[in-house]
Amino acid sequence: MPDPFSDLAQELARLPGFGRRSAERAALALVGRGAAAITPLVEALVAARDGLDSCRRCGAVMPRGGELCRICSDPGRDAGLVLVVEDPGDILAIERSGAFRGQYHALRALVSPQAGTSAADTTIPALESRAASGAVREIVLALPTDVEGDANAAYIRERLRKAAPSVRVSRLAWGLPADSAVRYSDPLTLRRAIAGRQTTD
Ligand SMILES: [Zn+2]
Repeated sequence: MPDPFSDLAQELARLPGFGRRSAERAALALVGRGAAAITPLVEALVAARDGLDSCRRCGAVMPRGGELCRICSDPGRDAGLVLVVEDPGDILAIERSGAFRGQYHALRALVSPQAGTSAADTTIPALESRAASGAVREIVLALPTDVEGDANAAYIRERLRKAAPSVRVSRLAWGLPADSAVRYSDPLTLRRAIAGRQTTD
């Protein structure tokens, strides 16, 4: 017997930030509000499925059909300054802060022996080529400041040192001891962290 309610709750529970209970609450809210709430959501999902793509250069979400996103194709942005984030959601957070006029590079995943991800599952090789192209003078690592983020920052710095020795590699200055991440930070914190970024040694 089909059970549309548990199917809906199960799909919602796959999303980041949703546990089983919050997925059920969201499903109940949608069902309770009826077609007026569900139809626009269905339409937005279909439009996202059919109309969105990732930027070939930085990985940001963009409308399907072009090669490069709005940021990568903007001549007013500094292409020599590239800020490296874990995922495209971090790009949205930094853009909202208005603190950065360079371009981005989303890794999609971090290298993690526990999760079974290697450098090949990330865009680190593409970052190396980008750094070695001669168009980049500084790479700012804006990865989370936890054990995994720190390990990835050190690993990427080593690879960049070999692939592009003349490129400066810096990290955000959070002003906090540990567990900072772009996506959990307010615009003021992000502005300070970017302005105070420090070269790694
Ligand atoms: Zn882009």
